[in-house]
Amino acid sequence: MSAQDSLQGRCMCGAVTAVARPTKDFITACNCENCRRWGGGTYFAFHVDAASAEITGPVKTVSVAPWAERGFCSACGSNVSYRIVAEGPHHGVLKLSAGLFPEGTGLPLGVEYFTDERPTAFDLSRPHEEMTAEAVRALLSGEP
Ligand SMILES: [Zn+2]
Ligand SMILES: [Zn+2]
Repeated sequence: MSAQDSLQGRCMCGAVTAVARPTKDFITACNCENCRRWGGGTYFAFHVDAASAEITGPVKTVSVAPWAERGFCSACGSNVSYRIVAEGPHHGVLKLSAGLFPEGTGLPLGVEYFTDERPTAFDLSRPHEEMTAEAVRALLSGEP
């Protein structure tokens, strides 16, 4: 896909929908403390065109820093957005959670922020056990 194609996505419960056009050909990952507290881990997101983005449904926003607010679905709690509210060159920059757009995961990771503050366990390049969806489902079903 290219940055010109619109993404169509939704939150976990479907109450919030989003149609937005990525402004970059990659997704970003952030390891800052704010993102980790918000989502429990590294925050993957798309930069999108804020002027044309259509986000509908019960989104609540919270101020999370003097310069930014985050939006979430008030029905299911899914992370929806991160917006720069501070005046300056980045005012209005809008990022939407990558998880809203399963079809958008074909875009590569382009930038990872706050790598110096990333907890050791969040570095997925380190050796660790990997399990497929099939393996996890088998585990949860009690199959050997
Ligand atoms: Zn929801
Ligand atoms: Zn962050």
